[in-house]
Amino acid sequence: MMDIPAYETDNIFARIIRGEIPNTTVYEDEDVLSFMDLFPQSEGHTLVIPKKAEAVNFLDIDPNILGVLIQRTQIIATAINTALRPDGIRLIQFNGEAAGQTVFHLHFHIIPVWQNANMKPHADSSGNGQADPVTLQKLAERIKACL
Ligand code: 5GP
Repeated sequence: MMDIPAYETDNIFARIIRGEIPNTTVYEDEDVLSFMDLFPQSEGHTLVIPKKAEAVNFLDIDPNILGVLIQRTQIIATAINTALRPDGIRLIQFNGEAAGQTVFHLHFHIIPVWQNANMKPHADSSGNGQADPVTLQKLAERIKACL
């Protein structure tokens, strides 16, 4: 059985919400923040997080907040589809370290997929996985234009 750890208020996404760490924002309202993944698995890899809930994962979130979060995730995924024209889209969400979760604030990954394009590894902060901020900003602008 997976234990649900206590929410750590200094996790990287909590710090992004508080504005302590910059992000490349795609969408924001009072409940939800969406921004480009800094170590993208594909071009356009985007994250969607709740702003108010201190939830470490899917099992830990108020269902009403989850409802808003997944509705916004659909809107953002649709904009990514229109803006970037991928062949497919993966919607991914990891629960627990054993499952591959590395940041313990609930989030959905929206990962555009192109046939014949290699997918980079998950959460690869080891070396050359970090995206160029200018490239991320250009992608975010293209997605925002389709929201
Ligand atoms: P998890 O492994 O928890 O499902 O996903 C965490 C995601 O956050 C990974 O895809 C990783 O690349 C991304 N990430 C880690 N640190 C940062 C950061 O400082 N900024 C942004 N935008 N993404 C991050």
